[in-house]
Amino acid sequence: MHVWYMYSMHDLPAYALFVGWCVHGRFPCPTCKAALEFRRLQAGGKFSCFDMHRQFLDPRHKFRKDKKNFIKGRVVKNSAPPALTGQQTLDQLNSLEPDPERPGYFKGYNSEHAWTHKTCLWDLPYFKDLLCPHNIDVMHTEKNVGEALFGTLFGIEGKTKDNPKARVDQQALCDRPLQNMRQPKGKKNWTKPKAWFNLGRPVMREILLWVKKELMFPDGYAANLKRGASLEKLKIFGLKSHDWHIWLERVMPVMLRGFIPEDEWLVLAELSYFFRVLCAKELSPGLLEELEELAPELICKLEKIFPPGFFNPMQHLILHLPTEARLGGPVQNRWCYSTERMQKTLREKCKNKRRVEASMAEAFITEEAANFVTAHYEAKNRHLHNPKPRYNAGDPKKGGSNLSLFKGKLAPAGAYTSLSLDVDEWRTITLYILNNLTEVRPYIE
Ligand SMILES: [Zn+2]
Repeated sequence: MHVWYMYSMHDLPAYALFVGWCVHGRFPCPTCKAALEFRRLQAGGKFSCFDMHRQFLDPRHKFRKDKKNFIKGRVVKNSAPPALTGQQTLDQLNSLEPDPERPGYFKGYNSEHAWTHKTCLWDLPYFKDLLCPHNIDVMHTEKNVGEALFGTLFGIEGKTKDNPKARVDQQALCDRPLQNMRQPKGKKNWTKPKAWFNLGRPVMREILLWVKKELMFPDGYAANLKRGASLEKLKIFGLKSHDWHIWLERVMPVMLRGFIPEDEWLVLAELSYFFRVLCAKELSPGLLEELEELAPELICKLEKIFPPGFFNPMQHLILHLPTEARLGGPVQNRWCYSTERMQKTLREKCKNKRRVEASMAEAFITEEAANFVTAHYEAKNRHLHNPKPRYNAGDPKKGGSNLSLFKGKLAPAGAYTSLSLDVDEWRTITLYILNNLTEVRPYIE
């Protein structure tokens, strides 16, 4: 029986260190390992996983015979090789030999495998039995997928996956003549024809105006996106990982509807749905099985509508997320939000820059000790966790009220100003008070 002992969780570069597998180059997926060799794009010079996901589909799936929308003329009949078990991985690691010609590398590096080292985790006797020893971080996956998507749609320099080189690579691999680079007659410069994912400037302006003027979230739900939206530069500045999470799962389908063709919108909406279900608080095994079937089909659908340059390792990792959720449970226990927030707290504690770790440890221990001690204070003694009420709740002499609705520890104690209400506001407030006041309940009943 496989029992859960431990797992590790980190962004992709740290993942590479923990697994001992290089996540750049020809075999960048640390889960598929050497079973999935990425294709090098001639013009872009990058490795892409374009048209590598049809092998993960059902053997009778219609995409497998599609000669038009993926790599032109290619039919996929093989099924994906099964993932390596822990024991097989360990055997592979043990059989590695140092390369005499390249010191520091194993024989066959970058041609047969991408092992860089054998991590000390393999010293644990149970490590080979773990079903999911390392977790792909959903937070970073969402951020990268969201960034690539937004950058491509808004044509943001440095972020867009659609440039002349990507179009040249697309021309070499795919049958999408309308999107090929064109040289107008008698002119020197080549032009990039508009594709469905190139939003026009008026459209971008309209979308950003909507973000600025109309988009609203419940309190504490998301950061204020409108602050970063710039109508001059036509992009949104300063989005953090959590903003990408919200953008991809909630904002993106609403934002794009009507501005891009319906078929393409449906694929993006499905991508949004996929992440929304995956990041849910509760997951059912049946739903995860559905997601596991949906993931390869979803990537195939993306491959049908985006150029090969769009598909870097991050877009491939979508494939493994439902499987890891089935093995490891809901993603909120296995993503980096809490870790990164804690890192921020710890970083703020660092006062002596010459002794970073010691400075953090000392501040942390002091705080823990203070927390522990204050828990044993008498209730009348005020401290950080039992603060003096700022509002005279329950004391009518000092301006407080006996009514339950007005009792609260954290109400602000500023000077009051008088305000005239209109009829609607007065009605709303009266209704709220009557509905929420426990003292009124007996009369209603
Ligand atoms: Zn993979």
